[in-house]
Amino acid sequence: METDGRGFVVTDEYLRTTADHTWAAGDITGGPQFTHLSWHDYRVIKRNLAGELVSTKDRLVPHTVFLAPELARVGLSESQAAAAGYNVRVARIPVAVIRGPGSCARRPGCGRR
Ligand SMILES: Cc1cc2nc3c(=O)[nH]c(=O)nc-3n(C[C@H](O)[C@H](O)[C@H](O)COP(=O)(O)OP(=O)(O)OC[C@H]3O[C@@H](n4cnc5c(N)ncnc54)[C@H](O)[C@@H]3O)c2cc1C
Repeated sequence: METDGRGFVVTDEYLRTTADHTWAAGDITGGPQFTHLSWHDYRVIKRNLAGELVSTKDRLVPHTVFLAPELARVGLSESQAAAAGYNVRVARIPVAVIRGPGSCARRPGCGRR
């Protein structure tokens, strides 16, 4: 099975390795290292094992940070969108009004270790 110069397993967009009947998912493929991306790799491989041809090309990558409360984003950040020439409109809501994180934000000491 081919690996790149950093030791990551080389795959194509369908997560096939260079070895027959062998796929690779997650961090070992050398892409962005996020839990949900590894999980999505698994779902892609499961479907490809069943005979589909599901690609990982151009998929949206969730950027998740496991803090308390958890943070996540998908797509361009505000600065990336502005740099790409988009007319950016920003909407803000306080974390405290979001149901899950909000309950953490209202508890004294929550999120501190
Ligand atoms: C400190 C830290 C903080 C992180 N924070 C975040 C975060 O906030 N948000 C986020 O999205 N991601 C975060 N990540 C990244 C996230 O943990 C990984 O992207 C994710 O766990 C990758 O899943 P995986 O299944 O590809 O690999 P892993 O979760 O590493 O699973 C690989 C498994 O293979 C096993 N294994 C290894 N070698 C062998 C072998 N030879 N034979 C059999 N089994 C073997 C290992 O024991 C392990 O259980 C963080 C990672 C670290 C280290």
